[in-house]
Amino acid sequence: MTLQTEPKTYQNYINGRWVSSSGNQVDASINPANKNEVVGYIQKSTKEDLDQAVAAAKKAQVQWRKLSGPARGEYLYKVANILESHLDEIAETMTKEMGKTLPEAKGETARGVAILRYYAGEGMRKIGEVIPSTDSEALMFTSRVPLGVVGVITPWNFPVAIPIWKIAPALVYGNAVILKPAQETAVTAAKVIQCFAEAELPAGVVNMVTGPGSVIGQGIIDHPDINGITFTGSDQVGKMVAQGAVARGAKYQLEMGGKNPVIVAADADLDLAVDATISGGLRSTGQKCTATSRVIIQKEVYEPFKEKLLNKIKEIKIGPGLHGDTWMGPCASESQLNTVLSYIEKGKAEGADLIYGGKRCEDSELKHGFYVYPTVFENVTSEMTIAQEEIFGPVLALIKVETLEEALEIANDVRFGLSASIFTQNIGNMLSFIREIDAGLVRINAESAGVELQAPFGGMKQSSSHSREQGQAAIEFFTAIKTVFVKP
Ligand code: NAP
Ligand code: MG
Repeated sequence: MTLQTEPKTYQNYINGRWVSSSGNQVDASINPANKNEVVGYIQKSTKEDLDQAVAAAKKAQVQWRKLSGPARGEYLYKVANILESHLDEIAETMTKEMGKTLPEAKGETARGVAILRYYAGEGMRKIGEVIPSTDSEALMFTSRVPLGVVGVITPWNFPVAIPIWKIAPALVYGNAVILKPAQETAVTAAKVIQCFAEAELPAGVVNMVTGPGSVIGQGIIDHPDINGITFTGSDQVGKMVAQGAVARGAKYQLEMGGKNPVIVAADADLDLAVDATISGGLRSTGQKCTATSRVIIQKEVYEPFKEKLLNKIKEIKIGPGLHGDTWMGPCASESQLNTVLSYIEKGKAEGADLIYGGKRCEDSELKHGFYVYPTVFENVTSEMTIAQEEIFGPVLALIKVETLEEALEIANDVRFGLSASIFTQNIGNMLSFIREIDAGLVRINAESAGVELQAPFGGMKQSSSHSREQGQAAIEFFTAIKTVFVKP
C-alpha cells in the first residue's frame, strides 16, 4: 500500500520526533465492527527505522539514568495528567480499533493513568537494601541500576494498559524504551505515545516503531543494543523471544496465554458464580489472557447453574462497542474471528455438545463486522482441544464433576497456569484450592479476569517466563542488582 492522507497516517516516534518509515510503506488499521472503515494508517517500518530508534534510545539513556528517581517520576505524573485529559478520545480510538465496548475502553485508559501515577511514586521508593557484612567496619548494600534500552512488544487486547505497565516502570527505573505495538492497535498506541511526547520527555527516552512482528518484533529480539525485552502475547511468539534473548544473553520477560478455570462447588452462591463466569468469560469478547474458558461444576448444582447461565447469556446485546446498549463487541480482527470459529468446529467434531451460539452473527447491521455469538459447550472432557488450547474468544466449556478433588485435577490438567477461580462458601475448600491450584492469580468468589495494578501479575507453567509484572514486582525485571561492599 502507498501513502494516503485520509484517514490520518500515524508515524513512528523516534528521537523525540514523529517520522515516516524509511520504506515509505503503510498498513491500514481496520475497525472490526465494520471492516470497511479504516481507523488510520500506520508505518510498515523497516530494520533501518528500528536501528535509528535504538541508537537514539541508547544515547538518551545515558542522560536519563543520571536523573534522580523522583525527577523521572515527575515526568510520569505529567504523562498521567495528559493521558487523563485525552481519556475520552483515546478510549474511543481503542473501541474503534479493536472492538471492546466504550466503557471497557474508558476503564482501561483510566487504569493506564493510575499505573503511571503508581510508577511515578516508585521514583521515590527504595532501590536497595543494607546487608550486615562480616566485616564490622564495612558497609555492604545493594543498589538497583537500569538495564539500558528495553524493547517492549505488546498485543492488541489491552492496547493502552499493557504498553503502559511495561513502559512506566522501565522509565522510572532509568531505562530508555522502544515500543513495538501490535499492528491491530497501533493507532491507539500512537495516541498513547503522543502523551509521552506532550510531556516533553527528553528526546530518545521513549520511541515507538510500528510494523510487522516478523520484522520489527524479530528486530528487537536480535538487536545487540537492546538489553532487555518484555513481551506479552501468544506463547508461540513468546518462545521465539526467549530463544532469541538467551542466544545473545539479553534479559527477557514473557506473559503469554491462559486456559483459566472457574470451579463452581456444590455450596457456591450460584448467582455470583454465573455473573462472574459471564463477566470473566465474555467481556472483551473473551479476548483477555485471564478470561474464563473452562467452567468446572459439581454435579449437584450443574443443572441450576447451567440454566441460570444460559438465561443470562441470551440477554447479551452484541453490537458495535461505541453503541451505548452494547455489552459485547466483535472479535478484534478477521483472523481472530476465524480462529474462534475453527475452535468451535473442533469442539463439535471432538464430541462436545454445543448448547448456545457457535456461529458468526450475520444480521444485517453486524455482517460487516467480526462478530460471533457467545458460545457454550457442555459434555466437554479435559482431553478435548477446546479444553486444552487458548481460544481467545467468547467460548465457555462446561465440565461436570463429582467431587472437588476431581475439579482440581481437571483445573490443573493444562499446560497453562495464569488465573483460576473457585466459588464456594467453605473455608476448607478455599484453602485447598489456594494450596493445590497451578495459577499465578488465585481468585476466591471472584471472576478470573480481575487484576489490580499494585499487585504482582503473571502465571505459572507455560503462561509466563516465571517472572511477574506490575506492582513492586516490576523492579525485578527492569533493574539489575549491584551488591556493593565499601571498606573505608
Ligand atoms: P502475538 O501474535 O503473539 O503478538 C504479540 C506481539 O508480538 C505483537 O506485537 C506482534 O506483532 C508481535 N510479534 C508477532 N510475531 C513476532 C515475531 N516473529 N517476533 C517478535 N514479535 C512478534 O499475540 P496477539 O495475537 O497480539 O495477542 C493474542 C495473544 O496474546 C493471546 O494468545 C493471549 O493469551 C496473549 N496475551 C497474554 C497476556 C498476558 O498478560 N499473559 C495479555 C494479553 C494477551 P504483530 O501485531 O505485528 O503480529
Ligand atoms: Mg498478532
